[in-house]
Amino acid sequence: MSNKINLIGMTLQELEEFVLSIKMPKFRAKQIADWIYIKNVSAIDEFKNFSLKDRDILNQHCIIKKLAPSKFVESTDGTKKYLFVLDLWKSIEVAYIPESKRNTLCLSSQVGCRMGCQFCMTDKQSLQRSLTTAEIINQILSLPEKNVITNLVFMGMGEPLDNYDAVIKALEIITSPWGFNISPHKVTLSTVGLIPNLKRFLNESSCNLALSVHNPISDERASFMPIERGYKVKDVMEVIKNYEWPNWRKFSVEYILFKDLNDDRKHINALVKLLHGMRVKVNLISYHEIPGESFKGVDDQKMEWFRDQLKLKGLQVTIRKSRGQDIDAACGLLSTKENK
Ligand code: SF4
Repeated sequence: MSNKINLIGMTLQELEEFVLSIKMPKFRAKQIADWIYIKNVSAIDEFKNFSLKDRDILNQHCIIKKLAPSKFVESTDGTKKYLFVLDLWKSIEVAYIPESKRNTLCLSSQVGCRMGCQFCMTDKQSLQRSLTTAEIINQILSLPEKNVITNLVFMGMGEPLDNYDAVIKALEIITSPWGFNISPHKVTLSTVGLIPNLKRFLNESSCNLALSVHNPISDERASFMPIERGYKVKDVMEVIKNYEWPNWRKFSVEYILFKDLNDDRKHINALVKLLHGMRVKVNLISYHEIPGESFKGVDDQKMEWFRDQLKLKGLQVTIRKSRGQDIDAACGLLSTKENK
């Protein structure tokens, strides 16, 4: 196996340290970042502003290791799902969701997950391993849609705050002018609420935050989201409320509506209480049922009733449209089938 350094996934600072270590001037680091992240080349020999000698030196020490998706499926609504096979029986999936005004890419941060949310297909795989920064960045670089992506969300497989170091580096590459240069306003990290790394994320990144609440009543939430036993959602909200939110940074709450589980008036009242005083948008999400599980989604009428009740209490609420229903839309379903 090659011991060469993969240039993908390196931050500008890491590239600077690397070029200095091989006796190249520091400005070369920015040029390398430009070739990799902006021009998206696949070989060092394509670095046209490097001399042949410098390219030879780079080729001795490093590579550009990209991984193409091994499979993709496309929905009738234009949503695409790409599957990347990382190692034997370890695959991840990425969803590309085109809309009239934006094109969103839903990234994965882990193979499987250990958060134990019972409604989630990714959890059925358990945590197999966390992704490297290179593997996260590769999900963007290796897609044909790379240049038309406008928004990024860490809402795919895995809990991003459970892979903090790799994810925070990926966020730096995604949002920096020397990287993909996507505004942090267009990037959202979604979490179930790992408080220690949530505090770090709020202070070390400018990207938006989404919190997966799904039930505001503690013992009920704990019955299907074990994270509640470690970090209660009310304590997570205290951390979020105590952070000084700049005007432009967005906070949203994700709420999958399950039939007879979290769709009652008492849940509306508890959610309003939990979010009291916050500038927040609530996203109501319809549930993509997964085989063999008892969780059921609600019908449109119930969804609209729940939305209207929250609106009457003064909350900003949207119903997130269901996308890709015909292509194993539940996150983790495609890769679980592949891994089997
Ligand atoms: S919903 Fe997210 S945090 Fe929960 S098990 Fe699935 S991937 Fe992990």
